Amino acid sequence: MLRHAVRLLLSLVMIASAVLVGGVLTAGTAQADSCYTWNRTLSQGASGEDVRQLQIRVSGYPAYGQVLAIDGAYGPATAAAVTRFQQAYGLSADGIAGQQTFNRIYALQDADCTPIHFSYAELNRCNSNWSGGAVSAATARANALVNMWRLEALRHALGDRPITVSSGFRSYACNNAAGGSPTSRHLYGDGVDLTGSPSLCTLAQRARYHGFREILGPGYPGHNDHTHVGNKSSRTWSAPTCGI
Ligand SMILES: [Zn+2]
Repeated sequence: MLRHAVRLLLSLVMIASAVLVGGVLTAGTAQADSCYTWNRTLSQGASGEDVRQLQIRVSGYPAYGQVLAIDGAYGPATAAAVTRFQQAYGLSADGIAGQQTFNRIYALQDADCTPIHFSYAELNRCNSNWSGGAVSAATARANALVNMWRLEALRHALGDRPITVSSGFRSYACNNAAGGSPTSRHLYGDGVDLTGSPSLCTLAQRARYHGFREILGPGYPGHNDHTHVGNKSSRTWSAPTCGI
């Protein structure tokens, strides 16, 4: 009987310390992340590299037809994007990026800062160094990173169903070989062709909410077997078969 009581007491102590350790871990300072760690709460009026890093992660939540500026300045558009991100993941939605929001981002990103469901290799099957396009290799790679976060938002909005990327960055040589337009966004690293399920029209219709100024899909010449999304200075949406 006594031995039983001692054993029970010991288990209770172990559970209590486990809870305590867990509590300390979650209530403490920001956890280190192998990609990027935020060290302060961000809200409207903040500016800096940490804001810019946040904007990249929430660039898929700019509202219908909009594109979030990635300028390191936390204005109303960034706050609204953070709110939509929070809503999308069931967090308390206040437009302020604090520990809860950062923890969600940490869970969504890989060590190289790409979102967990997309990779640099997937976005560039043309070459290994992002060279030979219309912009510097560094710019093409940076453009692809932002696009991957938009794709992650699109994927999540479509019920976390896998999205297949059939073509991403192209050098001029790769673009010519693929028969791409000489002004193709693929040359900039932010043009992406999507195939598979969800349907091409579902992808095109939903992409309008996730930061793509360029959407070309079924019914647009040469786009009956994929939906193309990209960025551009002005809106170019055309997928007549899908009502776009
Ligand atoms: Zn394309």
